[in-house]
Amino acid sequence: MATSVRRSARLAGILGSRERADQRGGPVSFGPESVPGPIATRPAGQIDYRLARQAVVREFRRGRLARHDVCDAHPELMRAARNVGQPSGRDCPICEETEAVLVSFAFGARLPPGGRCVTTQAELEKLSQRVSRVSCYVVEVCPQCSWNHLARMFLTGAGLGT
Ligand SMILES: [Zn+2]
Repeated sequence: MATSVRRSARLAGILGSRERADQRGGPVSFGPESVPGPIATRPAGQIDYRLARQAVVREFRRGRLARHDVCDAHPELMRAARNVGQPSGRDCPICEETEAVLVSFAFGARLPPGGRCVTTQAELEKLSQRVSRVSCYVVEVCPQCSWNHLARMFLTGAGLGT
């Protein structure tokens, strides 16, 4: 249960798989279609991963997940969190010492295979005006303990608006 939740909703594996793909020079295996969920049936919607997040936090608090299982943000994600993370307004659920921040990545045509880190609203609006579809993933990250979890995903561009 916990394993499938984590597999479907965490970005660490996304960035990790990209790194491995880079190393062997092969195709990037991650794409928006790799994330399980009702994406295909809700093309203009937003998917909220709050329930999956709560499940992971609950498993951690019950001792079924170790700290290193949930605090494993990729170094690149940690760098983004420290430099361009937006305040989330709530404490990290794991260390409960630091405010978690939100980092957004956009995936789509003519964007880097590993996604582009979106840091401003203006940038997001520009992406929304693209003719092709752009998938945005918002990740909650703790700059202190490396906790990370996908917060939500939404589609923009291709006439979908912001
Ligand atoms: Zn933390």
